[in-house]
Amino acid sequence: MTGPAPARAEIVVDLAAIRHNVRILRDLVRADEPVRLMVVVKADGYGHGMVEAAAAARDAGADWIGVATIDEALALRAAGDRGPLLCWLSAPGDDFAGAVAAGVDLTAYTVAELDEIAAVGGAHVQLKVDTGLSRGGAPRADWASFFAAAAAHEAAGRVRVTGIWSHFVASDEPAHPMNDAQEAAFREALALAEEAGLEPEVAHLANSAAAILRPSSHFDLVRCGIAAYGLDPAPGATPRLGLRPAMTARARLVMSKPLAAGDGVSYGHTWVADHDTSVGLVPAGYGDGVPRAAGNAASVWVEDSRRPIRGRVCMDQVVVDLHGELPPPGTEVVLFGPGDRGEPTAQDWAEAVDTISYEVVTRLGGRFVRRYI
Ligand code: PLP
Repeated sequence: MTGPAPARAEIVVDLAAIRHNVRILRDLVRADEPVRLMVVVKADGYGHGMVEAAAAARDAGADWIGVATIDEALALRAAGDRGPLLCWLSAPGDDFAGAVAAGVDLTAYTVAELDEIAAVGGAHVQLKVDTGLSRGGAPRADWASFFAAAAAHEAAGRVRVTGIWSHFVASDEPAHPMNDAQEAAFREALALAEEAGLEPEVAHLANSAAAILRPSSHFDLVRCGIAAYGLDPAPGATPRLGLRPAMTARARLVMSKPLAAGDGVSYGHTWVADHDTSVGLVPAGYGDGVPRAAGNAASVWVEDSRRPIRGRVCMDQVVVDLHGELPPPGTEVVLFGPGDRGEPTAQDWAEAVDTISYEVVTRLGGRFVRRYI
């Protein structure tokens, strides 16, 4: 990576990559029909910075922005974001009035939540139906009464129902039987909503994997998170779209030193050298979101080759095997990046620590300094 010398440890976010990915997704879903694109920027833009990611997404043609909480939505508004914005996770007593005043679309999961939102007056509300995830949303048995309650509030002018939506269980597994089942259930929900007299502007079900792999699930809008950040939502299953990972995590080497055969590394000596080598100290640890499971599992990139992490990840630092070399303090260490130079990617890290790339990028933070290019 070019640019100024890195901070001790920094997350470099390539906003041009986010714009590029959003354009690819927008063109993909608009190829046949006027399907709209929502870019999901919850959890601080999956670790990329919520405000910056949202601005890049809007620049590149995102029609909607999606977040989980009202606090996130209000923070976006405070940062100057305008335009369609949906949030979908609230608890009783949340600032529904603030959200309505800020022009944020709210989501209701239950009649009780709908009633609380309706009491504010003038809310735009979307109705979430549970088609199988068994997470938020009205269960099938309640759909008719949920829609009837929404229609009554709408008729009384207390809310406007702008959307009906649901969320996939396993869209990253194209052959999973729940994909067909949920799509069919969602169509049933939409038919019931129509019977209740609701005419929402948008029906939506697809996340990134479904947006890419399952055109039948596009309906009026798709909600893409991970793909906008350039990471593969369904590793091994996603056709190559030319998405570019937007995040690079890098640091400056603190020191390097020789290590003799028989020497153990880090707490508990879970790794002991079986030959003479050298090690380097990287100033980021689990206190910065580096997964502790990366100890003896993941690699970093130093001077054009991958260097394995040796021993346990500590709170502030990790030790890497430098294979006998002694690069000077300040040498660039790339934890993960787009992979162009051969450096590990967030997906490589996810596989090494038995998680998903979503968790790798979202959890990285702590004392990493975020910088935008
Ligand atoms: N829609 C909802 C309700 C979500 O919670 C999420 C993220 O988890 C998304 C869409 C985006 O999913 P993805 O990042 O897989 O595109």
